Amino acid sequence: MAHVVPTPAVPTVPVEGGGEFPVRRIFCVGRNYADHAREMGGDPSREAPVFFTKPADAVTTAEVVPYPSLTHDLHHEIELVVAIGQGGRDIAVAGAQAHVFGYAVGLDLTRRDLQAAAKAKGMPWDMAKGFDDSAPIGPITRADPAVPLKAGEIWLQINGQTRQAGDLADMTWSIPEVIAELSRYVALKPGDLIFTGTPAGVNRIEPGDELHGHVAGLADLKLRIAG
Ligand code: MN
Repeated sequence: MAHVVPTPAVPTVPVEGGGEFPVRRIFCVGRNYADHAREMGGDPSREAPVFFTKPADAVTTAEVVPYPSLTHDLHHEIELVVAIGQGGRDIAVAGAQAHVFGYAVGLDLTRRDLQAAAKAKGMPWDMAKGFDDSAPIGPITRADPAVPLKAGEIWLQINGQTRQAGDLADMTWSIPEVIAELSRYVALKPGDLIFTGTPAGVNRIEPGDELHGHVAGLADLKLRIAG
């Protein structure tokens, strides 16, 4: 049956060594590092992880990313991104590693002013988190199934200055735990991306800023905010 409007393109992310990873859905974990939970006024105790989503086409691999509309307080959140290669539901923590295709460095761009207003009213965050080009991502590095990613530095520099710095070992919920918990809510499928939360130091981005994100062992993320 013919589509009645032009068929949307499937967003893709390049893979180190060749190939393209097709993006099906983007899931994000809120407050997965205690120091960031504290800076956001939260309780860093180990409550169940909070999940939210972005549209698949929020992903961008562009070298220049637009400054979004309707905000005066765009924030950076540097995050490890897990790319799912094998789907499943009710995945066990012990078997979760087998579902990982690879990892990338990502940014969960956030209209913090809109998010604060939504939180104050008990309203949804969607327009604070799920706007166009809100999920910049670097190339995906294939996972080594024998070497789970448990630790390693994660940082973000803006215009050469370190803004966020942490270690994957400080995630409240490990990668296998995040996969297992998320798969209780939804069936995961190949092509899913999971942004796993950000360490402390989130702050404003200005038009023209140069961003450089790094996670140990992965391809870096580099981009400029237009303006
Ligand atoms: Mn985030």
